[in-house]
Amino acid sequence: MAPSIQNRNNAGDLCRPWKLLAFGDSKADNRSGLFSAETLFRGEFPTLVQISLTQIPNALETRIGLPRPDWAVICDWVDANVGGDAELNEGYAPLARDWLDALIDVLPSGYTRSESPEFLVLSSGNSPSAERLLDCCESARRIILDRLADVASDEGNGKHVLFAFAKAETYYDYVADFYPDAGDFALSGGMFLDRGYGHMVIPMVYAGAYERTIAHELTHALLRHLPLPPWLNEGVTQVMEDIVLESSYFIVDRETLRKHRDYWNADTIDAFWSGESFYSPDEGQELSYHLAQILFRNLVSDYPRQIARFLNSADYSDAGDAALVETCGVSLGDRVAQFLGKGTWAPRTDYAVFDEHNPAAFACPHPRFTPQ
Ligand SMILES: [Zn+2]
Repeated sequence: MAPSIQNRNNAGDLCRPWKLLAFGDSKADNRSGLFSAETLFRGEFPTLVQISLTQIPNALETRIGLPRPDWAVICDWVDANVGGDAELNEGYAPLARDWLDALIDVLPSGYTRSESPEFLVLSSGNSPSAERLLDCCESARRIILDRLADVASDEGNGKHVLFAFAKAETYYDYVADFYPDAGDFALSGGMFLDRGYGHMVIPMVYAGAYERTIAHELTHALLRHLPLPPWLNEGVTQVMEDIVLESSYFIVDRETLRKHRDYWNADTIDAFWSGESFYSPDEGQELSYHLAQILFRNLVSDYPRQIARFLNSADYSDAGDAALVETCGVSLGDRVAQFLGKGTWAPRTDYAVFDEHNPAAFACPHPRFTPQ
């Protein structure tokens, strides 16, 4: 089991910067009118407390050439030195700004920090501009919270953070710190890193797909409070991409069906339920994302009124099977058989959250976006 700060499924955590769950309510502050449209993009953000990472001993460590905050240390310090729930939300804003500024200090020139009511963005250049990225983030957040009402949650302290790295090299240097030392992992086009201060990271070399990637990773961020099995998490996020973008590349043709029927068996489906296959360096990754989408789309189509309850009760330990039986009266094995035909498809009941040596515990390796 990962340390508690990294464990999104430990409801007892007190220390979870972004969003730092269980500390205050950022939405309440924003609704109170502290932030108005006039302050958007101007950096005029009121603060109740002024604290800085430089005040906190051992708050930053450099690994792989980049500063890495130790959020456990920072949380302990904030816990001991900042009182009052109202101040905690504001307290994390300057700390997150310092985090971005520490990165800007060591990154190639051109990187800037930009801010809107709900987001902090680190980006470089004008394609797209920081304002466009912030606008895209704010818009996606509103749509996701609206369409996943009663499921998605924006609870927590601090703002959502997005790192938009201009070069793939910088992106991989950054995310390498979140991976185990050895092993082959698929390339990715964006991640929500659910460790410490959960944040989104995307390489802008695939800039044409940034809106879709932001919608995907932000959906993960807004679902992080739920113990979702990986396949369900990826199924929802891909459907939300299409809703936010109002477009879809989802298809199931004869060739795709053949690939699925060739690939899935008792062993590979077990890796699908556990989440491992989403990190496969071979075709297993693409087929996993696709199968997740097929299963989720079919459930939405067949059980539209039960979906919210299913999402709120699904648990990774059995890939959501018991919750599906309870809310929809069907099993996961049945649903897979509906698409792939008869087989040994039922999930086990003892899946665990991957530990810190497995990136699946906190990262979604969103595949590079490749329009069909
Ligand atoms: Zn994902």
